[in-house]
Amino acid sequence: MNRRRFIESTALLSMGLGMQSFIEKNKTHILTLSFDDGFKKSFYKIAEIHEAYGLKACLNVIAMGHEKGYVNDAFIRKETLGNFDDWNTLKRRGHEVMPHSWDHKNLTEIPLDEAKENLDTCLDYFEKNLIGYKPEKAIYNFAYNASNQELDEYALKRVRAIRTGGWLVFRDTKYHDIPSPKSNRLRLGCRSYGPDICDAHIESEIQDFLSGKGGWLILNLHGLDQEGWGPLSTSYLDSLLKRLVKVKNLDILPAGEVLS
Ligand SMILES: [Zn+2]
Repeated sequence: MNRRRFIESTALLSMGLGMQSFIEKNKTHILTLSFDDGFKKSFYKIAEIHEAYGLKACLNVIAMGHEKGYVNDAFIRKETLGNFDDWNTLKRRGHEVMPHSWDHKNLTEIPLDEAKENLDTCLDYFEKNLIGYKPEKAIYNFAYNASNQELDEYALKRVRAIRTGGWLVFRDTKYHDIPSPKSNRLRLGCRSYGPDICDAHIESEIQDFLSGKGGWLILNLHGLDQEGWGPLSTSYLDSLLKRLVKVKNLDILPAGEVLS
C-alpha cells in the first residue's frame, strides 16, 4: 500500500532569527516532537513517556474538539479527544499545551474573513480556558499545516510564533537556526508523515539531523498506535527518547520553550 504522503514544501520568511543560542553551549541540536490534535489516551501516554526521561512534551490541541458541534475528521474522532480538564492537568505537570485550531478546518479553504474569525475564536478560547496561557509565549499550530501569508500575519498579531507547513530555510540548511531570546513573531516550518505508522520515517529524519551540523528540527506528529494520522508506535517513542537523552549535543524541547 502506497498511500503515504510526504508533506514538504519550502518557505522563506525573514522574521529576525538570531544567530546566538541561549541553549547550553554544548547543545548544537534541538529537536521538537510536536504532537497534534489532542487525543486523550495518546497525550497522557506521550506525557508519561516524556516524564520518564525528564522531558516535557509539546502538545497541540483542537480548542473545541470536546464541544458540541465538532465534526469528525477521518483521523480525528470526537470520542478520542480530551478536554481542557485534561489539558490543564498536563500543563500543570509541566508539559506545553498550545492551540491547534478552533475546529480543525483548513483555513486556506474558507473565506479569509471567516478564517480570521475562526482563528480569533480559537485564541479567545485558549485565553479563557487554559490556565496560565500567555499569548506572548504562544505558538499557533495551523491545522493541516495549511496557511498563507495573510493568515500567518494575522495569527502573528496574537501569538509569539506560528507552526505551519514547509521549512524555514535559513543559511542554506533545511533546519531552523536556533533562535535567540530576542527573536519573535516567528514562522516555524515542520514536516509530518502519514497516514500509516511513521516510526521509520521519523527515525531517518532524526538520524539525518543528528549527522549534520545542527539547528532546530520540528517534527509534527499526532497520536500513538491507532490514534490519528501517521501515528507513532508507543514502543518506538519510548525507545527513541531513551536513546536521544544520551546524545550529548542534543536538547529535546517543546517549541515554546525553545523560544522562551
Ligand atoms: Zn491536526
